[in-house]
Amino acid sequence: MSFFLKAIHGIRHEILEIIYPTCCPGCGTLTDDHHIWCDECMKRMWNPRLLNSTHSEYLKGCYTLCFYNEPIRRCIIQLKYNGRTDRKRAFPSLLNKFPYWERLEEYDIVIPIPLSKKKMRLRGYNQVDMIFEKWMKRQGKTYIPDGLKRIRTARTQSLLSREERLKNTKAIFWINHKYDISGKKILLVDDIYTTGATMNAAAEELIRAGAAEVFGLTIASGAW
Ligand SMILES: [Zn+2]
Repeated sequence: MSFFLKAIHGIRHEILEIIYPTCCPGCGTLTDDHHIWCDECMKRMWNPRLLNSTHSEYLKGCYTLCFYNEPIRRCIIQLKYNGRTDRKRAFPSLLNKFPYWERLEEYDIVIPIPLSKKKMRLRGYNQVDMIFEKWMKRQGKTYIPDGLKRIRTARTQSLLSREERLKNTKAIFWINHKYDISGKKILLVDDIYTTGATMNAAAEELIRAGAAEVFGLTIASGAW
């Protein structure tokens, strides 16, 4: 970038900062672009870990970045349900900080948990793409937003028992045959990991379609 363009970019950035100052997505405290999350919120939610018992017949395991508590919950809800697509800015710094990337190095194809067609029409975007797509591409990974298709939305999971949840998510994902994933190692991404039923159903479909391995990664989880 030329000096001139850099200067313009800098000025534009400063003007935007005045009109829309950067605030912590968790609590609203003024922060800056380099540390968008305040220390207090980071301390409360940051807990990158491999989730227990996520290894299954189809899923090798699943990592998560944060506890699913108030700071990150508020941010994800705004992104998902309040049309606050600017909240996508909250995630690159978290992904940058994730300490176990080298363990996921071989998983160079990234597929998100998709929304159903109906939900996609209503929301206009998949929040999972907002969180991961740009960042993953910047790391040189192949991001396939429509690698999986969802034929329906499961009934609201929180109202169901664990057993019902597992049944509820069965066979709702289909591979998109436009892509050949046979023999590939796939990183399956989602915003929240709850019981793992969704992620397992999606992993099952990917393995059936010939994927060599599937690993999960989510932003937050209340599970251990
Ligand atoms: Zn905060």
